[in-house]
Amino acid sequence: MNYKITNGTLLLPDGESLQTEKADLYIRDSVIAAVGGTVPENFGNFETVDASDRLIMPGLINMHTHAYMTLLRNYADDVDFSEWLFNRCMPVEDRLPVEAAYWTSLLGCMEMISTGTTCFIDMHMYHEQSCKAANTAGMRGYIGRGLVGEDLYTDGLSRFQGCLDEQEKYGSDMLKFILSPHAIYTCSEKLLRQVTEESEKRGMLRQTHLSESETEVDDAIKKFGRTPVEVMRDTGFLGEKTILAHCVQMRGDDISIIAESGSSIVTNPASNAKLGNGFAPIEDLRRAGVNVCLGTDGTASNNRSRLLRHLSSTARREMPRKPSTGKESWA
Ligand SMILES: [Zn+2]
Repeated sequence: MNYKITNGTLLLPDGESLQTEKADLYIRDSVIAAVGGTVPENFGNFETVDASDRLIMPGLINMHTHAYMTLLRNYADDVDFSEWLFNRCMPVEDRLPVEAAYWTSLLGCMEMISTGTTCFIDMHMYHEQSCKAANTAGMRGYIGRGLVGEDLYTDGLSRFQGCLDEQEKYGSDMLKFILSPHAIYTCSEKLLRQVTEESEKRGMLRQTHLSESETEVDDAIKKFGRTPVEVMRDTGFLGEKTILAHCVQMRGDDISIIAESGSSIVTNPASNAKLGNGFAPIEDLRRAGVNVCLGTDGTASNNRSRLLRHLSSTARREMPRKPSTGKESWA
């Protein structure tokens, strides 16, 4: 099918920045055939789409989410991170029927598409349902199965094998797999090393949650005598194939360790705010040369998957505070 998209505002590259321009856009068989001007030669039959009051731009990429959590929106509000994760979300996840996992993932995909996101990086218990949902929705994605435990080849074998099977089944230009150990507090150092080796051997990307909460960092320092970032560095997990979600609580040399490794980080400002975890030091990370990406995290903690809304949350605003006169009226 061919389309002429008219009356919209195009977002176009202009050197290293972007510009907007009112022009028609012609699409032939899913590929941009022309920008502006009259109908291209041999364009054939086409449908005209009126894009008045619309911005036309490339699809957004949600770099960290859990599409299956869409069903858990508002399920656990106003509680701290540990309560939210261990006592509220995880018990529900354990009871989630497979069919529900598909429908909730599809709902997540629909919410992303309707707000401009066409590609997402996912971490899921039922990764095969994420794949199915992404296929149904026609989205691109990197899908991961959250891995936990002591040993990838014993505790996590069926899950790991499941990832490989799904890679075989769905691996395409649209959908790929990403190895996804959950976090340092649910995975052993051994498992993290094993995942790193498999990722390097198979040329697969890897992701994890890292330094999301103060408790995670304090516990790591108590248990390992190192920050979570240092633990990850020592397992070899950091590197150019690595995506680190959150990185809110950076201590000591954490930022320079991440920068030197070439890892990318994903900031999820709404999720971090909702769970009371803080605000990632985005400016410091960028100044150090780290590739900083944007994610929504799951809908249980964001509470909407509209990525542009999360972009506005990356602007840290220092609220001006006037000294109290003691005579303010609150009427
Ligand atoms: Zn997450």
